Amino acid sequence: SEPTAGGARRRRLGIMGGTFDPVHHGHLVAASEVAAEFELDEVIFVPTGQPWQKADRSVSPAEDRYLMTVVATASNPRFTVSRVDIDRPGMTYTVDTLRDLRRLHPDAELFFITGADAMGQILTWKDVDELWDLAHFVGVTRPGHDLTDMGLKDDVSLMEIPAMAISSTDCRERVARGRPVWYLVPDGVVQYIAKHHLYVSDEETP
Ligand code: ATP
Ligand code: MG
Repeated sequence: SEPTAGGARRRRLGIMGGTFDPVHHGHLVAASEVAAEFELDEVIFVPTGQPWQKADRSVSPAEDRYLMTVVATASNPRFTVSRVDIDRPGMTYTVDTLRDLRRLHPDAELFFITGADAMGQILTWKDVDELWDLAHFVGVTRPGHDLTDMGLKDDVSLMEIPAMAISSTDCRERVARGRPVWYLVPDGVVQYIAKHHLYVSDEETP
C-alpha cells in the first residue's frame, strides 16, 4: 500500500460491478476473497443500469437489483452498494463507473473486480487504455471460465475463487421451475424474490 504525503495509507476500494439479477453467494465470496487478498478497506457493489451485454433477455428493474444487493451486503460492514450506474441514464460502461467512483473517492486506490466473461468483453472496448489508468483490475475465475488464455495485460491480477458454480442465470431458472435457491443466495434475497414475484415467468415481468 502506497503512503500518501502525510504518511497515511490510501484507502483501498474494491469495485464489484454486476447485473446482480439476483446477487448470489458467488459474488459475495469473490468480493470477500479479493478484499482479503488485496487488503481492501471496502468493496462497493455497483449494480448496472441497462446492461447492453444482456440485450438478449429482459433484466429485472434496476431498483429490485439494487435492493437485493443492499439486502445481501447489509450485514458486512466492509460491503456497500453504489447507485452510480442505476442513476446514470443510458447503458452502463465500466469507464463511466470508474470515472464516477474516482470522482467520489479522489484519494482512494481502486480495484475493479470482474469475472472472466466480463473481462473478455472489457478487452474489446475502445476506452480500454483509460481503464488501466483508473483502476487496478482483478480478474476472478469461476468453474467453466478460464482467464489464462485471454491475452491479458501484465497488470491484471488473476484470482481463483473457491469452486462456486453459482450463476444468476441458474438462480433465475430455478425460481422459474419452482426449485429452491436457498443457500445459493442470501436468505433475505430468497425472501425478496418471493415477495416481489421475480423470475416466475416472462409474462409477469414488467
Ligand atoms: P448471469 O448468469 O445473469 O450472467 P452472473 O452470475 O454472471 O449472472 P453477474 O451479475 O453477471 O452474475 O456477475 C457480476 C460479476 O461477478 C461478473 O464479473 C461475473 O463474472 C462475476 N461472478 C458471477 N458469478 C461468480 C461466481 N460464482 N464466482 C466468481 N465470480 C462470479
Ligand atoms: Mg454473467
